[in-house]
Amino acid sequence: MAQSVAGPEIERLIQLLARLPGLGPRSARRAALHLIKKRETLLNPLSDAMRVANERIVVCASCGNVDTSDPCTICADHRRDLAILVVVEDVSDLWALERSGAISARYHVLGGVLSPLDGVRPEHLNLETLVARASEPGVTEVILALNATVDGQTTVHYVTDLLSHLPVKVTKLAHGVPVGGELDYLDEGTLSAAIKQRTTF
Ligand code: ZN
Repeated sequence: MAQSVAGPEIERLIQLLARLPGLGPRSARRAALHLIKKRETLLNPLSDAMRVANERIVVCASCGNVDTSDPCTICADHRRDLAILVVVEDVSDLWALERSGAISARYHVLGGVLSPLDGVRPEHLNLETLVARASEPGVTEVILALNATVDGQTTVHYVTDLLSHLPVKVTKLAHGVPVGGELDYLDEGTLSAAIKQRTTF
């Protein structure tokens, strides 16, 4: 471990920043120094924004999205197509789909995918509420917008079986999602095409 160049408060800031995705120790140091230099215009507003977000963040009891209101902004938006539920693994996938503008429906965040290797079983996922929501009158289609990974596809089959007794159409993303591909890394055009050309089982 390199010798500290700053007091413990600054070292702590650097260590915490280094835990962020995409930031290693080196870029965390650069980010910390940048924040310190821009104390008034960046560090202060950022720390306020983080404190406020931390106080207000809630998980939507209906869909599993994170927001500052429950139901979340998306669930509360009645201009969306209420007939369609889009099932995603994580909030990052929901954000990716919203960025693509491919669909204006409601979501259901599973909070993971089934993974025998990692010990993720059905009871660990947000599945009970999915069955309840897919059973609501007016819901006609459930789109399984899951990653094209082995675990993602295992989950697609499991959820399809789980919903098979309901009078809803279950569809999955079409071409364009490369095998092993994660939605968050796809460009908006590819995601949009994958949603529009979705296929039925
Ligand atoms: Zn919601």
